[in-house]
Amino acid sequence: AAKGGGRGQFRFYSDDLRDRASHRHQIEEDLRDALVKDELEMHYQPIVSADEHKVVCVEALMRWNHSDRGMVSPADFIPVAEEVGIIRQMGEWAINEVCQRVADWPTTIRAAINVSAVQFASDDLTEIVKRALKSSGVQPSRIELEITESVFVGDMERALRMFKELKAMGVRLALDDFGTGYSSLSYLRDAPFDKIKIDQSFVRGCSDAGNNNAAIVSAVVSLARALNMETVAEGVETKDELAAVVAQGASHLQGALFSRAQSADYITDRLEAGELIFEPRGPEKYRSD
Ligand code: C2E
Ligand code: MG
Ligand code: MG
Ligand code: MG
Repeated sequence: AAKGGGRGQFRFYSDDLRDRASHRHQIEEDLRDALVKDELEMHYQPIVSADEHKVVCVEALMRWNHSDRGMVSPADFIPVAEEVGIIRQMGEWAINEVCQRVADWPTTIRAAINVSAVQFASDDLTEIVKRALKSSGVQPSRIELEITESVFVGDMERALRMFKELKAMGVRLALDDFGTGYSSLSYLRDAPFDKIKIDQSFVRGCSDAGNNNAAIVSAVVSLARALNMETVAEGVETKDELAAVVAQGASHLQGALFSRAQSADYITDRLEAGELIFEPRGPEKYRSD
């Protein structure tokens, strides 16, 4: 970054901060509106078994269908929503929405919901999950909460306590984006995860010589097996990556090669038609996505 000090620079910096603050304020208001106007949508990306490519789970991924801006990516609004706290309301909406949907799907299909560390910081998360399970009638073991390592950064004891409560309710827990955060083996030792999701940065180019990704995927898979946890390779895009992560023993696969996130209606249609196998697609079909 450019350095220099001086008054001009300082003013520039504080203006920038003010802009950022008002920008965030604007997004916060827009998000409150989005909740009221029902502009949030859940899309679902299949997670398939490595052996049969059969869908066992779908990850719920939030989309914001903004009246002017069109579909907004969660990468653009989730961080702001976390910063201003409105992620709590959005998260509650998400948990209810997903539980209602899953209730209509075959009981062999689970759904994974991303839960932000900010949601874990409030005591009502377990109550919200409990209520959503009750009102939807969904079997708790069909719901999986995806948590990133950032949840441990605050109060680790507290996070572990909440995990225990959720597990006692029968809900499953997955450690998302493994290897990109503050990966510590103590989390794996102490927290009752059912699944480790290997971040797509390790999957990308896993088949190429000259990087360490295959070795890392292999090591994570061994660790997960020893701890009796499943593994999902995230972001599988090519057949070479598929071959590589399967060779390293990943038990489950997720990525554009199989399917991107789809609307709930699309998923419902596929499941109702009994089309549970998602074949890896050739490059032509993949490009026209
Ligand atoms: P994540 O939980 O790690 O989700 C996986 C992301 O990878 C998704 O991005 C998905 O669309 C994308 N992805 C899947 N397969 C591929 C692939 O083959 N190639 C590439 N390049 N990308 C792939 P998305 O939907 O943009 O979501 C980004 C992040 O936003 C999520 O990362 C998650 O951290 C957060 N997020 C999404 N929905 C929610 C939500 O309902 N609540 C919370 N708290 N966070 C959410
Ligand atoms: Mg996730
Ligand atoms: Mg992930
Ligand atoms: Mg991620």
